[in-house]
Amino acid sequence: MTQAEGRRPHRRKPAPRPALPATLLEGPLCAHCGKPEALCVCDAIEPINNRVELLVLQHPQEQDKTLGTARVAVTHLAKATFRIGLSWPSLSAALDRDVDPKRWAVLHMGASPEEDAPQDRDIALLDRHGAPAGNQAAAMRAIDGIILFDGSWSQAKTLWWRNAWVLKCPRLVLRPTQPSLYGKLRKEPRREGLSTLEAAAFTLSRLENRPEIEKTMLSTFRRMLQRYRSALEPQGAKSAG
Ligand SMILES: [Zn+2]
Repeated sequence: MTQAEGRRPHRRKPAPRPALPATLLEGPLCAHCGKPEALCVCDAIEPINNRVELLVLQHPQEQDKTLGTARVAVTHLAKATFRIGLSWPSLSAALDRDVDPKRWAVLHMGASPEEDAPQDRDIALLDRHGAPAGNQAAAMRAIDGIILFDGSWSQAKTLWWRNAWVLKCPRLVLRPTQPSLYGKLRKEPRREGLSTLEAAAFTLSRLENRPEIEKTMLSTFRRMLQRYRSALEPQGAKSAG
């Protein structure tokens, strides 16, 4: 085969994206994960007794009841807090108890300080000025909790700037080696391309040195996506929009 054949590749029109049936979204929502019954996997969730706490602050406009993972992650963990809002006066206010912000790490947004982070690690802890901690293992052991902003890239950025107290917290930079299990289901790229559940699972399993945390949480995520995919119906003539 040569280019001389000059055959243009035949471009097929992309098939319409399958959609969730509208009726699926009409029923009651699960009190734990906030999803419609057909998409809820809470029954099969194995509780995880985590040492490092999780705090998820969700942008009010996020509220993705079908593909969102923040509440599934929180449901998984014994020590986890989920809040919806735009700003809190302090980390202690967001958690509703007194904590030391130096012992809580925020998952870093944005590119610049990543170059300074140690390149040989899939996760790196930077101090609040963006300098990598000298003894990474010791610095990570001193972390009591992690903070995740949940939303699209721009929503998470808004949360970051509306909550100036995060500047007192150390930062975690993730370098995931695997792409998100979302695949093509979600159009908008998220933090490091991972869902909130994947980012929490990745981080906690490394901070606690317990790979089973990630394994257990990802198996729930796979079940959730399986539920979603099997609920999809091909978009026919009667498009729901
Ligand atoms: Zn549920």
